[in-house]
Amino acid sequence: MFGKILIANRGEIALRIQRACREMGIRTVVVHSTADTDAKYVKLADESVCIGPPPSKDSYLNVPAIISAAEVTDAEAIHPGYGFLSENADFAERVEKSGFVFIGPRPESIRLMGDKVSAKQAMIAAGVPCVPGSEGALPEDPREIVKTARAVGYPVIIKAAGGGGGRGMRVVHTEAALVNAVNMTRQEAQSAFSNPAVYMEKFLENPRHIEIQVLADQHRNAVWLGERDCSMQRRHQKIIEEAPAPGIPRKLIEKIGDRCADACRRISYRGAGTFEFLYENGEFFFIEMNTRVQVEHPVTEMVTGIDIVQQQIHVAAGEKLTLRQRDIPTRGAAVECRINAEDPYKFTPSPGRITAWHAPGGPGVRVDSHAYAGYFVPPNYDSMIGKVICYGDTREQAMARMRIALSEMVVEGILTNIPLHRELMLDEKFMLGGTSIHYLEKRLAARQMNQV
Ligand code: ADP
Repeated sequence: MFGKILIANRGEIALRIQRACREMGIRTVVVHSTADTDAKYVKLADESVCIGPPPSKDSYLNVPAIISAAEVTDAEAIHPGYGFLSENADFAERVEKSGFVFIGPRPESIRLMGDKVSAKQAMIAAGVPCVPGSEGALPEDPREIVKTARAVGYPVIIKAAGGGGGRGMRVVHTEAALVNAVNMTRQEAQSAFSNPAVYMEKFLENPRHIEIQVLADQHRNAVWLGERDCSMQRRHQKIIEEAPAPGIPRKLIEKIGDRCADACRRISYRGAGTFEFLYENGEFFFIEMNTRVQVEHPVTEMVTGIDIVQQQIHVAAGEKLTLRQRDIPTRGAAVECRINAEDPYKFTPSPGRITAWHAPGGPGVRVDSHAYAGYFVPPNYDSMIGKVICYGDTREQAMARMRIALSEMVVEGILTNIPLHRELMLDEKFMLGGTSIHYLEKRLAARQMNQV
């Protein structure tokens, strides 16, 4: 096992990884920008190295600075967390070439899954069901594009092969708008992702977002740890996640979970990963794979009792998975609310000094956050300041505990989306379970109408 791990991230996930390491007796090095110098988790780490000024490109994305920090502190492995460099195959390669272990998949796997066209082809080959669409990237010839769309059937969605973060997508309803939409998406893809390749999918009208958590070692063993429902999204950003997904037959989930684990073995995947699906009318359709730990991993940890971050570290060190598929428990239900420093109505970011902070507690309540009274939320990064996760024997109990947790929670000095979460925990349709990926947006639009 490693003696020392460098954490190439910030905020709640930097603290989360630190806690996992400490429990395993591994020392930690946290790298940070000048905006995060005073953060408590930086002080809590065994060592810390300042790697640059606040802008991410000069610090958390500064590959040479991160590698030098690992060299001067004698770290053996680097955990990239999520976001930043976590899905950057060139970074993973640089880490390994410099003699450190990258706590994540091999660079080839990141590359394969990072290109959504090659990812989809790999999944089709592995027998994972995908959204019907073009075979590979779209050709230049407009007649071919029109032909493909007719075969797929309108509406279609044009997506960038290199896209991510909900960007580089365009829905097309008519043939008249098709070729122009393809050209515009190509141009955007070129400027945003330096890759003009685009592909076409059938646009599903009312799906849910269901994802499967996987874990694989370097010895071709792979398991799946159940599913998460992440359909509560605004602008393709998840804000509430839960496990298990309400109302989906267990048999269907088991079938898709086994396919995902098989796919991992086929591509010699290692580490933690997530297969994302759209689910509509009883069918699963693969959309993409995330090759890292996800923000919403705690809901899976709550229902399985498995520490996903520690598992990442074990398999990165070359150990064999000790988990067997039939022994993986899923008990009860868990729900997570992402707490963002933002206006709960207008969604504008609200950085600044937190003057009062009271975190909830009690049975089944977990708070993953690096914030505290006196903490300054820097304006330079993502607005998420923490996550509240509640567990219950049943979904109803998990939701009830979340209602109580949110009612106890106090954050002053900045605005947060806690009032929105409190509203959603009383929402009748959401409480029934199974709302689609459009539900939150529609509800927010209705809320706006009621206000004026
Ligand atoms: P990104 O990598 O940018 O997150 P995804 O492929 O995961 O892109 O898609 C993000 C979101 O876009 C999905 O969660 C879903 O809301 C929507 N979406 C993507 N593909 C489709 C599709 N074929 N039909 C309907 N909605 C889609």
